[in-house]
Amino acid sequence: MQYQKILDTIKSETLARPITGKVATYIPELAKIDPDKFGMHLYCINSGHYGFGNESERFSIQSISKVFSLTLAMSLLDDELFERVDVEPSGDPFNSLIQLEYENGIPRNPFINAGALVIADILVSILENPQQEFLDFIHKITGNTTININQKVFDSEKKYSHRNAALLNLMKSFGNIKNDIETVLDLYIYQCSIEMSCKELATAFMIYANAGNTLSDDIEVITSRKTKRINAIMQTCGFYDEAGEFSFRVGLPGKSGVGGGIAAIHPGQYAVTVWSPPLNPKGNSELGMYALERLTTLTGFSIF
Ligand code: GLN
Repeated sequence: MQYQKILDTIKSETLARPITGKVATYIPELAKIDPDKFGMHLYCINSGHYGFGNESERFSIQSISKVFSLTLAMSLLDDELFERVDVEPSGDPFNSLIQLEYENGIPRNPFINAGALVIADILVSILENPQQEFLDFIHKITGNTTININQKVFDSEKKYSHRNAALLNLMKSFGNIKNDIETVLDLYIYQCSIEMSCKELATAFMIYANAGNTLSDDIEVITSRKTKRINAIMQTCGFYDEAGEFSFRVGLPGKSGVGGGIAAIHPGQYAVTVWSPPLNPKGNSELGMYALERLTTLTGFSIF
């Protein structure tokens, strides 16, 4: 497969498209990002690295971190974790409170904010130093210890975190948050404020393409059975109320973040990441979705 040639085609096709999306502004620090940033990185199990554009520039991973926190929690716990968070698509926006009220404080899945906050609560219960251990986990799966948070993004989100605090309070009223709300909120905001480049994210996501093992040194991060499950949740819930659309257009398990990143994998084949900050109305990178749709079209294969 001529991957670099395909990526070059995707680059020119994508840059020729008009952008209608808007950079996220509800976290003021994210509003400062240059909307023209655009990078893509493809990491193939058999043939290595391909990419273009701003593929090596770090950006705020935001909700893509929810895949890592779920992985860390699933590596520490078994099925009891899913008594506190379900695995069904929500069909609602990422920060919605609506279903929680009539579903007794059990979030639909770990990739909407409510679900990720429950996972953060679980990590606060288990880990001695949750923020540092979360960062250590990212260092372990990337083999890169320079990855860190952006303090300004952390402070900015913290200042405007009323909605996530509301989710936590509502779930606590149902007994589904065990720890101090501020501590759980801080871990969640911390994980969201981590910065990684497309290349680093593709390296991290390689574990989901490679049955739970890092590719470079073959460390088992999580079992293949649990990897299958994480990929299934990405497929059905990775894009909130646009999970169906992403599946329909792209056909890969993936996860987006409001920083404009999308990471996706093809099991046994590759991990791929794209970054373009303008978001569509559902909060997913507009050009990112297009670029990935072109990847599975031009290569002629997706998981379907
Ligand atoms: N930190 C963001 C929030 O909680 C993450 C949302 C996202 O990336 N979709 O609002």
